This record gives sequence, structure tokens and C-alpha cells, in this order.
Amino acid sequence: TGIKELLLSRIRDVADYPEPGVMFKDITPLLADPAAFTALTDALAEIVGNTGATKIVGLEARGFILGAPVAVRAGVGFIPVRKAGKLPGATLSQAYDLEYGSAEIEVHAEDLSSGDRVLVIDDVLATGGTAEASIQLIRRAGAQVAGLAVLMELGFLGGRTRLEPALAGAPLESLLTV
Ligand code: IMP
Repeated sequence: TGIKELLLSRIRDVADYPEPGVMFKDITPLLADPAAFTALTDALAEIVGNTGATKIVGLEARGFILGAPVAVRAGVGFIPVRKAGKLPGATLSQAYDLEYGSAEIEVHAEDLSSGDRVLVIDDVLATGGTAEASIQLIRRAGAQVAGLAVLMELGFLGGRTRLEPALAGAPLESLLTV
């Protein structure tokens, strides 16, 4: 469709970032183009409606940039999932493995409860490790996972397959797949 072509045309490939051999997908040209950013926000807000989500979780940091306008457009709350040590209140935290070492993400415990249906939003799905940990956080908080929505899925990294058990039937919506 026209929207996909517009979005794809505003994502820049940066070779060897953040390390040699990696082709980084840079969404800053898309953010700088109001037509593209609006089209993306509208497309993600439609997914909020389709999934019946009542809250959005955005993953630090680009998931904040995409998730916040979607929350406003869709009329649902926005909850940040942050890297460990950044949230001031009582948190739930979830560690997960990286290629080298591990990472930890957190959410304010009081932001999620059993009545919530949560859509997770991020820019790029790579290996799925970050999204998997966020889904575990949401479930541990007692909330339901409505799905995961990303701008771009890097299909060759297998994130979709990895996430199948965690998603447990909830949809993974990627607007673009490479
Ligand atoms: P994963 O945990 O391996 O799926 O990595 C996903 C996380 O890393 C997300 O929060 C993305 O924002 C970020 N990420 C990985 N690769 C890229 C990329 O090529 N462009 C932008 N962000 C990326």
C-alpha cells in the first residue's frame, strides 16, 4: 500500500552501527516527516482499536516516541517500560539475556492491574528479547497482553518465532517486514 511505501522510504539504513556488521534501521527521518509520522500514528492507533487494548506499554526509548502519540490518538493510557534504575516508584523488574551479558527492564507496579489489556509498542523487533521481557512484566503485573505492535520486524532474526510462547495467541503486528 501507499502507507507502507511512505514509511519504508523514511527509514534510513546505517551500516556498521552500533557495531561492525550490523545494519541499523534509523527511524529519525520518519519522525521528522509529519505526514509519515501521522500515518504511522494512525496505523498503530487502528491496531489499538482492533485488539481492544486499554493501555499502551512503550519500550524505552523509541517505543516512547511512537507509543505516546498513539495513546493520545486512541484515548488510552501510556505506560513506560524503562531500563533498570530510571523509574522512581515501586517497580517490577525483569532480566533478560543479550548476546553478551544481560539487561533489565522495569515498570511501575501500580501502573498495571488485572483489568488492563495492554498493547506493547516499539520501533523495531530484532531478536525479540526486549519484547519478551516486557510481556513477562505485564503478565507478572496481572494484566492481559493484547498484543505487540512494531513499525518494523527484522524477519531474519527470528523474533516472531521466539515470541510465540510469550504471546500465547495474542497478535504480533508489524507494519513492515524486512
Ligand atoms: P531485540 O530485543 O533484539 O528484539 O531488540 C529490540 C530492541 O533493540 C528494540 O528496543 C529496538 O528499539 C532496538 N533495536 C534493535 N535493532 C534495531 C535497529 O536496527 N534499529 C532501531 N532499533 C533497533
